[in-house]
Amino acid sequence: MNLNAAPKWRITSEQGKRNYENACHTYPAQAIVDLKALRDNMAHMIDMVGGPHSGTAVMGVVKADAYGHGLVPTALAALAGGATWLGTAQSHEALVLRRAGIGSDRAHILTWLYNGEQVPADRLITNDIDISVGSLEGIDEIAAAARSVGKPARVHVKVDTGFGRNGFTPQIFDQALEKLEKYTAEGSIQVIGQWSHLAVADAPDNPDFVEATEMQIRTFNEFTARMEKAGVPPQIRHLANTAATFDRPDIHFELTRPGIGLYGYEPDPAMGEPSDWGITPAMTLQAQLGTVKDLEAGHGISYGRTYITEEDTSTAIMPLGYADGIHRSASGFNTAGARHQIHMGGPVRIMTSNGPRLVRVSGRVCMDQCILDLRGKASDLGVSEGDTVVLFGPGRGEAFAEPTADDWARAADTISYEIFTCLRNRIPRLYLNSDILPESDRAMLDPTTLL
Ligand SMILES: *Cc1c(COP(=O)(O)O)cnc(C)c1O
Repeated sequence: MNLNAAPKWRITSEQGKRNYENACHTYPAQAIVDLKALRDNMAHMIDMVGGPHSGTAVMGVVKADAYGHGLVPTALAALAGGATWLGTAQSHEALVLRRAGIGSDRAHILTWLYNGEQVPADRLITNDIDISVGSLEGIDEIAAAARSVGKPARVHVKVDTGFGRNGFTPQIFDQALEKLEKYTAEGSIQVIGQWSHLAVADAPDNPDFVEATEMQIRTFNEFTARMEKAGVPPQIRHLANTAATFDRPDIHFELTRPGIGLYGYEPDPAMGEPSDWGITPAMTLQAQLGTVKDLEAGHGISYGRTYITEEDTSTAIMPLGYADGIHRSASGFNTAGARHQIHMGGPVRIMTSNGPRLVRVSGRVCMDQCILDLRGKASDLGVSEGDTVVLFGPGRGEAFAEPTADDWARAADTISYEIFTCLRNRIPRLYLNSDILPESDRAMLDPTTLL
């Protein structure tokens, strides 16, 4: 390893240094998550809604293992930033948060994805987890569970205002209201919230989409009126995701539900860069190079010969592949054929003796690895086996040539959300700046993951 490729991490504790070395020995790639960035992103979004006393609370959406960042560490960082709510789609993850030690005195937790047949409603209710209801079967099941455990269920009524996913449609809502009235009267449920999800809030520059959002808001308000009339008014309403938390203060209501903003990304690059919104990407994905070797011009690279070296060059193995969650659609093709066209592969920052340089995945992404054409001789560049390269990180400007998850999303024709959530857990997650957490929270985390 040459000096320029030395990891930039400043790890102060001896334990942290050992953890870093162990992780590098265990696996040739690491996802490093900055807890301070997560905390600050949450604190910044709380400022955006007017501060902790504005009447609008902020939920840290930590579904899907906190978008791949790690459920419990992320949840604790969000709480350190002032979040008073956490949200997960799968009810299992809501239970994991409570089991980890995040009590109802610290955060409300809302969960929203289950079927009315198999929902572990009794455990959700006894663990003080708020439950979304969006189907008639769901209401019955939740109410029955509440009766059996002898404690009312806290429910949030999900309404479909145009997203076409979960929630009651206006047509069926009278039947839902009837059940809500009945179960409220008998004390088995408590209507806490009314909520819905926006389809196109991340495209403020598209008039059709803005109109679609307006329509969703009108429909949302009509649902509220119907709940009030039926005598089951919501105590809180929530509709805003990250996009609307950023740019629709008129619909913050009593709670907003940002997910991607917590992780430091805007929902869509059309909305600008993270720094435009005052947030910082929290995750860096790095890897240590395998074989570095010289190849002559005209040499095929990887399956399908979709990439042919254009000059005498060197290549390096990057030991992450589609089994790690690196999208095969981020393969790089410099030839066109019957089944492929020229396509820029995913970007990777390498360090050379002349400073940082961007190279790209060359040829098809394989199961455990991909190949980087260094476009130059490794010996001239000062690149060698074992060097640490960065797939994406906070993106510290041109000079650092550091790609972001948005760059990977572009290369893979997807969104940053999928870039993170696809990363398999065989890639060690390591946490920077855990000293932003109270000692008792740090104690909830796996000590071998802290830097
Ligand atoms: C994922 C999700 C969010 C967060 O969306 P972002 O675009 O990441 O802010 C909010 N609400 C619901 C219902 C979700 O499923």
